[in-house]
Amino acid sequence: MCLKAMSTEADAVGKTFDILERKKPSDLTLEHWIASWEKQQIGFHLNEVHEMLKRHLDVMLNGRKQIRIFFPLCGKAVDMKWLADQGHTIVGVEISEIAIKQFFTEQNLSYIQEPVPGIPDAEIYKTPEGHITLFQGNIFDFSSSVAGQFDGIWDRGSLQPLNTSDRQRYSKLMITLMAKGCRYLLDTYVCTKTDFDGLPPKISESETRDLFGHACNIHLLDSTDKLTGKQKLFGLEGFIEEVHLITLKIVQVNHYFGTNH
Ligand code: SAH
Repeated sequence: MCLKAMSTEADAVGKTFDILERKKPSDLTLEHWIASWEKQQIGFHLNEVHEMLKRHLDVMLNGRKQIRIFFPLCGKAVDMKWLADQGHTIVGVEISEIAIKQFFTEQNLSYIQEPVPGIPDAEIYKTPEGHITLFQGNIFDFSSSVAGQFDGIWDRGSLQPLNTSDRQRYSKLMITLMAKGCRYLLDTYVCTKTDFDGLPPKISESETRDLFGHACNIHLLDSTDKLTGKQKLFGLEGFIEEVHLITLKIVQVNHYFGTNH
């Protein structure tokens, strides 16, 4: 199988399904992820900038330059370097130290390693100029008091692979990390298969609305059918990639958090 073909979204997801489908949602522990990186079972990783990010970056930027962009559960996404090269400041969170070190090595970037004040189990890895800062640690130990709020969020493979039971606290955290005017792009895929109850857990439009709708406006930007012969081989009957734009409902958020956003 050639590397270029492996780096497409469809193939990466197909490969991830192959590994994950044999597991149950309760297997999605931090230990699972750390072990996946140790064994380099990282079929979700893309070698090229994500097609949907390229397609919808202008929507995230909304005319702004040099913004702060957050990558929750970042892995070693090459998109981070791509955006930093365009002058944006990148902050990511990732549990695997291996993923973070591979990111800096593969992108030919030097880094400084520092402890995170107040979070004993976390560490900061950042470029000397501070354009890319990756926190090694659990996303649920992260907050706006650690690295402030963000103007943009790129969420691909972050909400979706979380256990269903963690999604509510994840969305609450994301909302607190959104600065006024933040434009959050949420990339998910909706798969159908009659007898499918494996991983990654399904996510539906109504669940996205339940998670963010109380504080945010949600707008469907893209819905693209990505079903290929390969996914059919994995037994999928439908495979649609969706991108939602999530923005704060300012009035409700002021009320919700009692701040002057
Ligand atoms: N967004 C990345 C990676 C997606 S896979 C990409 O597009 O390539 C999900 C990543 O989240 C894995 O690298 C895993 O190690 C990390 N992860 C899972 N749970 C986490 C948690 N609770 N805190 C921080 N990172 C986590």
